[in-house]
Amino acid sequence: MQNHSNKAPKIIPSKVYIKRLQDWSLDQKISEAVLSAWQYLEPIVDFKDKNSFTAVKLTFGEEGASGYIKPAWLTDILNSLRGARENLFIAETNTLYRGKRSNAIGHLHAANSHGYSFDKVGIPIIIADGLRGRDYQNIPIRGDHFENVKIARGICESDDMICISHVTGHMQSGFAGALKNLGIGCASRQGKLLQHSGTLPEITVEKCIGCSECMSICPANAIGIKKKKAILVKEKCFGCGECTVACRIGAIDIKYDENVVKFQEKMVEYALGVKKALNSRIVYLNFLEHVTKNCDCMSKDETPIAPDIGILCGADPVAVDKASMDIVGIEKFKEIFPEIDPLAQIRHAEKIKLGTSQYELVEL
Ligand code: SF4
Ligand code: SF4
Repeated sequence: MQNHSNKAPKIIPSKVYIKRLQDWSLDQKISEAVLSAWQYLEPIVDFKDKNSFTAVKLTFGEEGASGYIKPAWLTDILNSLRGARENLFIAETNTLYRGKRSNAIGHLHAANSHGYSFDKVGIPIIIADGLRGRDYQNIPIRGDHFENVKIARGICESDDMICISHVTGHMQSGFAGALKNLGIGCASRQGKLLQHSGTLPEITVEKCIGCSECMSICPANAIGIKKKKAILVKEKCFGCGECTVACRIGAIDIKYDENVVKFQEKMVEYALGVKKALNSRIVYLNFLEHVTKNCDCMSKDETPIAPDIGILCGADPVAVDKASMDIVGIEKFKEIFPEIDPLAQIRHAEKIKLGTSQYELVEL
């Protein structure tokens, strides 16, 4: 019989667990808090058997960054997982922009400098998109922007994933958490480029002093200097944002317009691809600590924009990110990037059925 009811379908809120932690000075206490969060998650996730390939997805942080997830904080969870899973590894992908982490060799050196090495964490570290970031698999998603997304092969070939994200602001999405760790963090280099294309920086010629710092850092050779002023070659630029950071006098900004929304939508479509590739066998832990304006890809330390809060976790990346935004304070992210609506990524994620923004917060 047909249902003629006009009632909207009932949305079941996703459970988001929070382990509050004010004192972040003792690694052991943090490690115990992470383990207790995991112990709540473990019974609710449908991970495969002990022989499955389980990726712990995180970011090691750029040299000079200090807000990255410290390996000592993961000691207890990795010890617990190592006993139960034979093929456990830490996964990351190469960066789009030129730097130490743009190929697997440099990336492993950078990881090592932040304490991530086999001898320190006791499990292998795999750069999941290969030596040069070219190893990927096409995952069909039929989104608004992409029919297929190019996800790192090592991610696609994993059976389960624990997605560990440091929550920060982000110059192109306004907010970086689980969705960004999936969407950008699991894409191959070409996949990252396809998400970024369309977001361009703008040079304020009156401010420019012609120092050429932006030109030296640009991975696409998209900036030249003419008559002591920087000039952007738009056709070459793929919107990585490196030049905006390199310019110390603030003469370069990302051009914030509808492209920013497009970027966020593309990012969550990539996140959907990761979820599909792993048949939803992913759990999410968001660290709300040292929440800075920019993500850990920036080679600098920054003053936090909010007090330290704790660890949020759950099986729905949209709910975990929305709860993270709400708890830090959505206005804090809007203050640092007034031109970006961080909720645009949440809206599109709901539209493509990646998860729900409605959540029930459970204190641990
Ligand atoms: S011009 Fe700036 S945003 Fe464009 S590719 Fe170069 S560094 Fe990246
Ligand atoms: S870094 Fe800034 S000041 Fe220096 S050339 Fe580039 S835009 Fe001009």
